[in-house]
Amino acid sequence: MTLKTESILDHYPEYEVTIGIEVHAQLTTKTKIFCSCANTVGKTPNTDICSICSGHPGVLPVLNKKVVNFAILAGLATKSKISKISEFARKHYFYPDLPKGYQITQNEFPICTEGFIPIYLEDGTIKNVRLTRIHIEEDAGKNIHSSSDDVSFVDLNRAGTPLLEIVSHPDISSTYQAKTYLKALRSIVQYLNICSGNMEEGAFRADTNISVKKKKDKDLGTRCELKNINSFKFIGDAIEYEIQRQIELLKNGQNVVQETRLWDSKDKKTIPMRSKEEAADYRYFQDPDLPLIEVNDEWISRIEKTLPELPYEKQKRFCKEIKLSTYEASILVEDKELANYFERAYSFSKSKQIINWILRDLLGYLKEHKISLIECKVTPDLLAKIVTLVESGKINNRAAKEVFEIVAQTGQNPEEIVKEKGLEQIGSVDQLEEIVKTIVESNPDMVEKYKSGKDRLFGFFVGQAMKKTQGKGDPKIIQELLKKHLQ
Ligand SMILES: [Zn+2]
Repeated sequence: MTLKTESILDHYPEYEVTIGIEVHAQLTTKTKIFCSCANTVGKTPNTDICSICSGHPGVLPVLNKKVVNFAILAGLATKSKISKISEFARKHYFYPDLPKGYQITQNEFPICTEGFIPIYLEDGTIKNVRLTRIHIEEDAGKNIHSSSDDVSFVDLNRAGTPLLEIVSHPDISSTYQAKTYLKALRSIVQYLNICSGNMEEGAFRADTNISVKKKKDKDLGTRCELKNINSFKFIGDAIEYEIQRQIELLKNGQNVVQETRLWDSKDKKTIPMRSKEEAADYRYFQDPDLPLIEVNDEWISRIEKTLPELPYEKQKRFCKEIKLSTYEASILVEDKELANYFERAYSFSKSKQIINWILRDLLGYLKEHKISLIECKVTPDLLAKIVTLVESGKINNRAAKEVFEIVAQTGQNPEEIVKEKGLEQIGSVDQLEEIVKTIVESNPDMVEKYKSGKDRLFGFFVGQAMKKTQGKGDPKIIQELLKKHLQ
């Protein structure tokens, strides 16, 4: 199936866009990267801090080994080269949420290089978006600006939270690809259980570099960076806006200024934040407080054994073995819980109807009632039972929807509901034939009109029969019987 999404680029056929993305993924280790403080979200400000993560002079950082394990896992999942030796560097800048005056990160020698992430394009083909690197670093604290008073606060709870920075090549050439890449990457870190992927909490943050140029021009255009946008929808909107803004500037003979911009979701536009610092401004050098990270083959293969089935592998399997469409499979695998739900339900009832019930009824119900899959009372085996009841002809689709609603509210067994509510389909031809005969006999005028050519009246007879059976008649058999008796 081809899903063509509209883009502003469709209106400027002579231009093209080049996009590269840097993602910061907060790692879900129990403790921070260089101290034993708890790595938590949402605690009272400045409670999970110590002299190391709040940057006192003279203290020594000690690397959390779990962080290296997580980085190797991410590297293996993206087919990256794992560096046998990598090093930490200091990146200097001044900001109130960074009391040390430098961030510990990796510069020249990152832990992973040259990976790639496969993404499914709109026409179902696969494109590999290459990664330049994945490196380890620490997060900074947070500045909190009070809206009522003219003051700002600093919360250092987040300082020292381990991050992976995952940097793509500028291989992305549309808004759709950018969003698909980010969704694919987020699914990977979630499948690996190394990051919550929660964008609203800032656990998965994307900086998107965008530049446009005329297709015939050789050199890339000047790029702008969109920083820290907290939803896929806003990222898509912001990229579209930025493509148009840059094209309009070029068309008017103006220059694009290299800068960092923010997305104003209220006014739906990007606004300048600051002109981009050059790399040299940071005065990187190797951190003398931390030894080199040395990783051997044995360590790598130990981590490799824990690699789960990855989202793109799962998607391939769903399409090949269960014959799901690319679209169906992509919705399932984007969310690990949903993919697991499908697999469990499918193990109870090997019916393709399962996918329709999940995409249409289950997701619709979750959205309508604003609940998560885990909170939903329709467990995979209960959904499979509803599908089996329909497929075996015990209930019709209309009754099935009623059963689904009741299961969703109560968690009751579908078979019991059907019995209690008397929802069993009237499938016996004899029973239905009696009903059809009565309807035909008691409506001679309508029969006359129908026979004289008013075909549309057929619906009237079907409606009457469904009413007589209280919606429990098998519509297919009713239609066949009506055709027979209306001849
Ligand atoms: Zn600490």
